[in-house]
Amino acid sequence: MHTPELSIEFFPPQTTEGAEKLRTVRDQLAVLQPAFFSVTYGAGGSTRERTFATVQEIAAAGFEAAPHLSCIGSSRAQLRDILDEYDAAGIRRIVALRGDLPSGVGTAGEFRYANELVEFIRAESGQRFRIEVAAYPEWHPQAKSPRDDLIAFQRKVAAGADSAITQYFYNIDAYLHFVDEARALDVDIPIVPGIMPISSFSKLARFSDACGAEIPRWMRRKFESFGDDSASVKAFGLDVVTELCQRLLEAGAPGLHFYSMNQAEATLAICERLGLMPQAH
Ligand code: FAD
Repeated sequence: MHTPELSIEFFPPQTTEGAEKLRTVRDQLAVLQPAFFSVTYGAGGSTRERTFATVQEIAAAGFEAAPHLSCIGSSRAQLRDILDEYDAAGIRRIVALRGDLPSGVGTAGEFRYANELVEFIRAESGQRFRIEVAAYPEWHPQAKSPRDDLIAFQRKVAAGADSAITQYFYNIDAYLHFVDEARALDVDIPIVPGIMPISSFSKLARFSDACGAEIPRWMRRKFESFGDDSASVKAFGLDVVTELCQRLLEAGAPGLHFYSMNQAEATLAICERLGLMPQAH
């Protein structure tokens, strides 16, 4: 099996305790030698300062940091300022997204879709940033049709994206099909599967409904059968996600992007089982 490129996602902590904990988590996860740590960005710029501070801290500690940046609800001038700030801070990779406005909050702004943000970043900053975009193996919940979603993805790549990270999924066939369809459209950038470790089922179920990721019936039924037995939930979660990763890598996935939820334990356990701890090589 090839050595996959790993990346790990955080959200910007809200409190000083959260920031302190994230430093510990980051240092624990650093043993995996990830290509980068990414940091999410709240709808309409609501975490602008916290995302920036978190990214700066990661970079200052000597790691590659990739801020997420969403365009919905923002003006060109605001986005230009943010790009300048990141450039001055030595950031070289951005995860470019449309984002979602919470219902009833703010206005759409000057951008409607992520391909427009990718175009804007390229027009403003040339090749200064490596650009990651989102991909949806089970299709984005607002997509008119799978075909429309695939074409929207192709548009982001044509606008200048270098690489893609997928929404998480537990059905490997969805990912393989998506990659095949993208390749058939001559989209040749890496499409890195997003991996959501499972440590609590009820949270995952709520979240999955909202973002359109399917938890297959056989998994859902089994998780439900564990009730409050969190040790069994974790053990089964570790088994299924490790097996998913193993099969993805065997099928040629170029890397794995972990949605860590600012926790180290599950990501480390999965990578250890996969033999991806550097000392295991
Ligand atoms: P787009 O690629 O613009 O697609 C959005 C929808 O519009 C799709 O249904 C697409 O089919 C459709 N579409 C695109 N172009 C057109 C067009 N020209 N005409 C008609 N329809 C079109 N959210 C955050 O708020 N902050 C984050 O930090 C964040 N990080 C994420 C990281 C990853 C890896 C992923 C997968 C998602 C992340 N999200 C984040 C969630 C993301 O913002 C939402 O899924 C959002 O609804 C779509 O963003 P997008 O960049 O995929 O949008």
